[in-house]
Amino acid sequence: MIAGLKSMLSFEIGHNPKVVKRPERLRDFIPAPYKGVLIISADFELAWAWRYAKALGGRTEAAEAYARIARANVPEILRLCEAYHIPITWGTVGHLFLEQCQAGQAGLAHTEIDRLPYFENKYWRYAEGDWFGHDPCTSWRENDAWYAPDLVNQILASPVEHEIGCHTFSHIDCSDEHCPPAVIREELAACQKAADGFGIKLESFLFPGHTMGNFQAIKACGYTSVRVNYANEIGYPVRDEFGLWRLAATAEIIMNPKWPESYNLYRFRKIIKRTLRNQAVANLWFHPSLPSETVVPLFTTIFQYANRHRGQLWVTTMRDYVSWLNHRAPAQGVSKAVH
Ligand SMILES: [Zn+2]
Ligand SMILES: [Zn+2]
Repeated sequence: MIAGLKSMLSFEIGHNPKVVKRPERLRDFIPAPYKGVLIISADFELAWAWRYAKALGGRTEAAEAYARIARANVPEILRLCEAYHIPITWGTVGHLFLEQCQAGQAGLAHTEIDRLPYFENKYWRYAEGDWFGHDPCTSWRENDAWYAPDLVNQILASPVEHEIGCHTFSHIDCSDEHCPPAVIREELAACQKAADGFGIKLESFLFPGHTMGNFQAIKACGYTSVRVNYANEIGYPVRDEFGLWRLAATAEIIMNPKWPESYNLYRFRKIIKRTLRNQAVANLWFHPSLPSETVVPLFTTIFQYANRHRGQLWVTTMRDYVSWLNHRAPAQGVSKAVH
């Protein structure tokens, strides 16, 4: 109750998401004639995200239950995207591109990929067994919680120009503390190899579980941007020392049960309104496994509002926005965004 009221207050006074000061060269970030940019990104992961979740106690059935919800939601979300012409940047776990896979040496899956050493972070604990131990090593028809070429095809077949981005091959912790560069390089190589089958070049990267790091390795693998979650911001991208654009997350699309539905929906409209008022960039993100009964109210509200303001608001993908930035921004050096 108190926490709910505190975060309501923090939202009302503009602390969360934080509104970042406008840069001098605003038109380096917001193309004319727009007043703001809206990116919507999805952490598309099915069961992979939840394998080592401390909250689930490592139960495979619980991870697969999330996958079932996501599988039910994705077609509905795609339908709403179509109704309101809203593209999404789908940060996709690379294993989902596969139709099937087999166990290799000693019964282990994906032996071409080095494993993370055992670790524990805020959300996950990986302390025994093999990192790929949950992989069924069958096919999408037998275990569709772990493979999703059918859903990737649905996204590609949509008349809306969605982007397929990357969320690592097996939902690893990417932090420098837990992930040696060789592991992320092998994970990303496996992602691109699997995406090749769909004719996709992966360019935008979403960190799993807010575990940020290995920026240099990500850039070296050909990515142009990453979504970072240091703090929720309505702001501007920053080009880091490796030439990678870092786009701050603004808010998670989710119905907070502490608040009435109407207040939840009001917040998302208000975030877009503030983005336009401050002439800034917002990046709303979500887990496709969010509760199914909240999909229609949340996405209809956000998409309708964004669609209605389309003359002022550029609703785009990370790839298309960054492609514009790269043509627009000075060829060298770090951008002047204020952080
Ligand atoms: Zn596999
Ligand atoms: Zn994730």
